[in-house]
Amino acid sequence: MYIHSELIPMKTMIFEARNTGYAVGQFNINGLQWAKAILQAAEEEESPIILAASDRLIEFLGGFRTIVGMVKGLVEDMAVTVPVALHLDHGMSVERCKAAIDAGFSSVMFDGSRLPIEKNIEMTKKVVEYAKSKGVSVEAEVGTVGGMEDGLIGNVNYADPIECIRLVEETNVDALAAALGSVHGPYQGEPKLGFKEMEYISKKVGIPLVLHGGSGIPVPLIQKAITLGHAKINVNTECTQAWSAVTRDIFMKNKETYDPQMLLTPGQQAIKSVVKEKIREFGSQQRVHSQIQR
Ligand SMILES: [Zn+2]
Repeated sequence: MYIHSELIPMKTMIFEARNTGYAVGQFNINGLQWAKAILQAAEEEESPIILAASDRLIEFLGGFRTIVGMVKGLVEDMAVTVPVALHLDHGMSVERCKAAIDAGFSSVMFDGSRLPIEKNIEMTKKVVEYAKSKGVSVEAEVGTVGGMEDGLIGNVNYADPIECIRLVEETNVDALAAALGSVHGPYQGEPKLGFKEMEYISKKVGIPLVLHGGSGIPVPLIQKAITLGHAKINVNTECTQAWSAVTRDIFMKNKETYDPQMLLTPGQQAIKSVVKEKIREFGSQQRVHSQIQR
C-alpha cells in the first residue's frame, strides 16, 4: 500500500460495490470541517468514499480549484489510504462539468433531469465524451428527486424505465440516478420508494444506481435499495443537521467563548459519527482490500 494524493474515479468503486452487494456513500462537503470529518470516518472504517461538492455551492466553497486543492491536501496531510473520489453533485451544465474536470474532480454528475429526455441524452453525451478522455466518471439523472434540488423545491417525478434504458445505452454513463421516490432534505412521513421499478431498471441498465436524498430513509429500506442495484447513496442533510444541532448547542452554552477551535470541533465530530454510521449501514466498511489500493 502506498500513499499519494491522487483522487480516483468512482466507476471502479461502485461497480465493485454493485457486484458485491454494498453501497459507497457520497457525502457532501460544506467546508473544510466536512471534508476532514468524512475522510477521518472513511479511514477509520476502511471504506472507499466519495466526497461531493454540489454545483450550487462551488463558489461558496471558494471555487473548483480550491475544493480540489483542499481535498487533495487533506488526503496527503492525513495520510489517507482508502480510495477517495471527488464528485461534482448536480452539475448544472456541460460547461460546469468541464470546469470541474479541468480543476481535477475525478467524477461528475450532469443533471439534465429537468430537460426533455432527448436534450438530457444529448448533453449527457457531451459530458461523457469529455470526461472519458480524462479518465473521469459520469453520473446522469432521469426523473426528479423530490424536495430541495438545486435550490428548487420540486415534487417527486418517478423515472420512466424506458427513458433510463435509452439514456444509459446512448450515453454510456457510469452511474444512473433514477428518481424513484427519494427526496432531498427531510422526509415528511415514510419514504415511498418504487422498489419494483428499481429492480427492473437496475437489471435492464446493468450499471450502478444512485440514491439521492439518502438522509432519513429507514435502514431496512436503504438496505433493500442496495440489494436492488443501488451502489452509491448520497447523504448531506443528516450531516448538516448533526453539525447544526451540536454547533448551536455549543454556542448557546458558551456565550463568553471566542475560540473557533473549541466552538467548531464538536460539530466536526458529529459529522464524523454520522458518516461512520452510514458507512456501516451501507456495508462499505472494511472493503478497501477488495478495492483498488492507493
Ligand atoms: Zn441529489
